[in-house]
Amino acid sequence: MRDPFVSASHDISQINILRLIKIRDLKIGILLRFFWGHTDIEDVIKSTKEAGVKTLISVTEVASEFERVIQLSKIYPDLVAPCLGIHPVQGCGSQNHRSVTLQDLEPALPLFQKYREDIVAIGEIGLDFTPWYATSAEQREEQQRVFKKQLEISKELDLPVNVHSRSAAKATIAVLKEQGIGCALLHNFAGRCSVAMEGVQAGYYFSFPPAVCRSEQRAKLIKRIPLENICLETDSPALGPDKHVRNEPKNITLSCEYIAQVKGITPERVLEVTTQNALRLFPKIKKIINKCSSNGITTVITP
Ligand SMILES: [Zn+2]
Repeated sequence: MRDPFVSASHDISQINILRLIKIRDLKIGILLRFFWGHTDIEDVIKSTKEAGVKTLISVTEVASEFERVIQLSKIYPDLVAPCLGIHPVQGCGSQNHRSVTLQDLEPALPLFQKYREDIVAIGEIGLDFTPWYATSAEQREEQQRVFKKQLEISKELDLPVNVHSRSAAKATIAVLKEQGIGCALLHNFAGRCSVAMEGVQAGYYFSFPPAVCRSEQRAKLIKRIPLENICLETDSPALGPDKHVRNEPKNITLSCEYIAQVKGITPERVLEVTTQNALRLFPKIKKIINKCSSNGITTVITP
C-alpha cells in the first residue's frame, strides 16, 4: 500500500512484513512495512522482539525485492517468514509511481517457483485504482491481469494471499471470489461495509494498522466485521499513529487496543482471536513459532 504521505520518502528498498506477536502470552498476527535499506534494521528487529513478536511475514512489492526478503528470512529464521508478490503500483519515488504491467511480473515468475517451499503466502498483490496511478481503463485491466495471474500462482502453490486494494474494494473482492480464492487477507481495507461483508461471507480476513484510529470510516468497518475475520497489522513504516513519524512493529499494540475499544471488548480477547485467525490463514508460520520456542532465546545472525 502506498499512501501519498509516505510515498515521498519511499524507495524500492521498502518491504512489507506481516508478523505474529506475543504479548502477555498471547500471540497476534500483524502486517507491517519495513525499511530494509535503513541502517537501523537491527534496532527495529530488536525492539520488535522486545515487544514479544514471534514471527514477521515479510511482503514484497516489486520483483527486485524478492531475493532480499528471502535473505532477510535466512538472517532471522526464527522471526521472518517471506511472502512474495508484485504490487499493483510500481516504480520508486513519489514521482515515478505507475500502474503495474505484465512485464513487471515476468522476472518474478521463476522466483515464485524457486522459493515455493520457503514462502508462506503470495503478496502484496491486488488492485489500486487511485486515479493518478491507474489513469485509463487499459491500465486497470492490466492490473487485473497481473492480479489474476498471481492468484493462479497462489492456487497452484496452495498458499494464501495478502491483498492490497485502494479505490478498488468492490472489484478486488469480486476478482477474489471469481477466481475461487479461499484464503485471503485484505490489508488496510477501506471499502464500504457492505463490500467488506461480501468478503466476510467468502471467508476472507481484514487487517487494520494503527492509523485507523484517525478514521471514523474504519471504526464503522471494525464494528461491523466479526472479530473472527480480523487480523492486526502495522503496515510500517507507513500508517502509524502519527502520520509524520515512521511506524514500527511495536505499534501493533495500538491497533489491538483500538479494535478492542471500538468493539467494546478487552485487548486480551482481541489478541487471542486475531492470533488464531493469523494461524488459520497462514498455517506455514507455525514452523517459525516452533523454531522460536525450541530455541528459547532468539538468535540474531548479522549479514
Ligand atoms: Zn498495501
